[in-house]
Amino acid sequence: TTVETTEILIIGAGPAGSVAAAMLRQQGRQVLMLERQQFPRFSIGESLLPQSMEYIEAAGLLQDVVQAGFQYKNGAAFVRGEATTEFDFRDKFSPGWGTTYQVQRADFDNVLARGAERMGTTLRFGDEVLSVQPGRPARVQVRRPDGSEYTIEAGFILDASGFARLLPRLLKLESPSNFPVRGAIFCHVRDHIPADAGFDRNKILITTHPEHVDVWYWTIPFSNGCCSLGVVAEPSFFEKYPGSDEDKLRAIVGEDPNLTRLLANAEWAVLPVRTITGYSANVSSLWGEGYALLGNAGEFLDPVFSSGVTIAFKSAQLASQCIAREYAGEAVDWEREFSIPLRAGVKTFRRFVEAWYAGGFQKIIYHPDAQPDVRRMISSILAGYAWDTHNPYVADDSGRRLRVLEELCSA
Ligand code: FAD
Repeated sequence: TTVETTEILIIGAGPAGSVAAAMLRQQGRQVLMLERQQFPRFSIGESLLPQSMEYIEAAGLLQDVVQAGFQYKNGAAFVRGEATTEFDFRDKFSPGWGTTYQVQRADFDNVLARGAERMGTTLRFGDEVLSVQPGRPARVQVRRPDGSEYTIEAGFILDASGFARLLPRLLKLESPSNFPVRGAIFCHVRDHIPADAGFDRNKILITTHPEHVDVWYWTIPFSNGCCSLGVVAEPSFFEKYPGSDEDKLRAIVGEDPNLTRLLANAEWAVLPVRTITGYSANVSSLWGEGYALLGNAGEFLDPVFSSGVTIAFKSAQLASQCIAREYAGEAVDWEREFSIPLRAGVKTFRRFVEAWYAGGFQKIIYHPDAQPDVRRMISSILAGYAWDTHNPYVADDSGRRLRVLEELCSA
């Protein structure tokens, strides 16, 4: 059988894969991207952060995204019972984009993948990577939709296979996440929220359950009159509700007075109700001989701050910069130049996610007389600027500064 060769093989055409492909094409690399599904296809992860725009722009895909007509987003609103607060991401500590979009991922991922293809990526849908023998070159076994198989020799592999976590599973790199197992039930609704209902369609709405501080809902408006609606909790919480997933979702939404009011006229399940559980995951290493893990194929924390796609893009940018240096003949230390810088921002998000579920972060955001410059620093993190070490809450490696702020706001 003939063996196909490529400089770079990308496994998966989600946001991580497509942005990496586009960046590598800008360097003139030969890029083959294999995607086992047919696009457009549903995916979860619909609210972007302004930081992500920098990577979309750097990849040469900004015009594609802007012209797709997604819902403009400028911030986040939080509600817990009677308490409400909102962050406008344009009012933030770090320089850079203050606005972004909320996207139906079926369309968004297709826009990015087609953009990468236009820039010269060879893109195949329906082709599934079955096995990988790492090395330089690596050998990869692929199955076409008709069941036939072929072999690829790749100079470098980027695993962007998302929750499928192909290389972590094949190479036994998986390591446990330190978050408890949580799950989500979600769907799209045609929301019919009246214009005067006090609902800002330019912001994601994060609602804390009126009684359970670690249970929360997302409401993510789209530009087509629909919202993504979901609830996150530990599996034991969902088990208490009888019936189908839709019954559970409706019952839990019904427990929050504000969401009940907003969604009084909603048409439910415009897209089917779906669930996902145990999504938090980690790996012992984000790279090895001839490969690196991007996006969810590496580490995934938690959805509460909508950081997933931003982290996926950041990983794509760091990896493509490392590959550029390798092709320029330089020695690259992937731990120092890829893994450590990527994990630095992930660690910032982790501190905030932990503080969210412990309840301390909520004390901070609902505090009535927050200092404006501290709020701007928090706004920056919520906008995705988790790698900007000028921000004291990013540089706060031990988490001490965040704990002190929590204490101040608890007093
Ligand atoms: P994916 O988007 O999952 O893409 C991986 C692709 O690889 C898929 O298309 C798959 O078909 C393909 N693939 C897999 N295996 C193979 C194979 N063997 N061969 C070929 N192709 C393969 N993030 C946000 O930024 N904002 C949010 O609001 C947000 N909300 C979330 C809510 C929940 C409940 C969860 C669980 C996550 C959320 N996320 C959010 C995170 C977000 O979903 C992910 O971080 C993001 O999709 C990661 O992108 P990716 O490119 O790494 O992987």
